[in-house]
Amino acid sequence: MADRLSKLLEARRWVLADGATGTNLFAMGLMSGDAPELWNVDHPERISALHRGFVQAGADILLTNSFGGTRYRLKLHHAEGRVRELNVAAARIARAEADASGREVVVAGSIGPTGEILEPLGPLTTDAAREAFAEQAAALAEGGVDVLWIETMSSKEEIEAAIAGARSTGLPVVSTLSFDTNGRTMMSLTPNELASIHRAHGLLACGSNCGVGPSELVASIVNLATASEPSAVLVAKSNCGLPQYVDGAIRYDGTPELMATYACLAFDAGARIIGGCCGTTPDHLRAMRTALEQHTQGARPDAELIETRLGTISNGARAQLKGLLDRASGASPNATTRRSTGRRGAPRPADA
Ligand SMILES: [Zn+2]
Repeated sequence: MADRLSKLLEARRWVLADGATGTNLFAMGLMSGDAPELWNVDHPERISALHRGFVQAGADILLTNSFGGTRYRLKLHHAEGRVRELNVAAARIARAEADASGREVVVAGSIGPTGEILEPLGPLTTDAAREAFAEQAAALAEGGVDVLWIETMSSKEEIEAAIAGARSTGLPVVSTLSFDTNGRTMMSLTPNELASIHRAHGLLACGSNCGVGPSELVASIVNLATASEPSAVLVAKSNCGLPQYVDGAIRYDGTPELMATYACLAFDAGARIIGGCCGTTPDHLRAMRTALEQHTQGARPDAELIETRLGTISNGARAQLKGLLDRASGASPNATTRRSTGRRGAPRPADA
């Protein structure tokens, strides 16, 4: 039987993911430096309220409050022994809100980076990372998530360890990277390389989240779509504009109108799962849903259209839009040498 997210995707042109977790919890009283995951046990009603706000705004997918739920991240809060407890709680809270919604709402178990650097550049072995991700994923599965959702990843080693850990549950896996460094992740991965990871690991969907604003995120989706099979399901989850310091606090400057424009352009770019990341509130999400419902699909946006509607894009992303998908990384020698799915026919403008 198809999983809940695949069934939604079969029935719908687009599926709306939720908005931010961290920034909205700060607005509810979480202090900088606190572990949001502790609130799954200490203030579960606040997490329920956040999920409910997104469901009422039209979200079809809820991400659990478990982004920092690996033992490595929890160790910063002396909670490394509570991985199972905190992740099961995160999943149950979201599951209860999804099930109470009266419609099909998918619960996605959020898995974020460990915060450690993996070998060969850093001290964490891939085996240890995979075990930590598997531990978290098992708890999210126990709590009732439909899919595991690996997000804001940056390095190939870590994303592959996370996919392997998540896979151990048997649940489908979605993975998104943060292309926040001149068209690449901080650890230099391009959308083209993510398309290869998607193919090699048979992900349900892959995409782009967080990063440096809606314009750059839409550009990354165009580049990802260019490198992917037409059937690949892509995810766009942009921050709500850019962070600004206002009265000593970080505020994201995106309006509901801007996020509505972003949602439609992300769809035209090729994303079928569309949501918001940092700064995105239920008000933003509601505007995105209304805009998508009224939207007729347009052509895949080019650099000029993206910049006119959403703001500037980086030189790296612009070069990728021109077809230089692996600019400055060489030929990405291992991009297609991993376990083949026998479907390597993706359009590769870089080769043209
Ligand atoms: Zn974010």
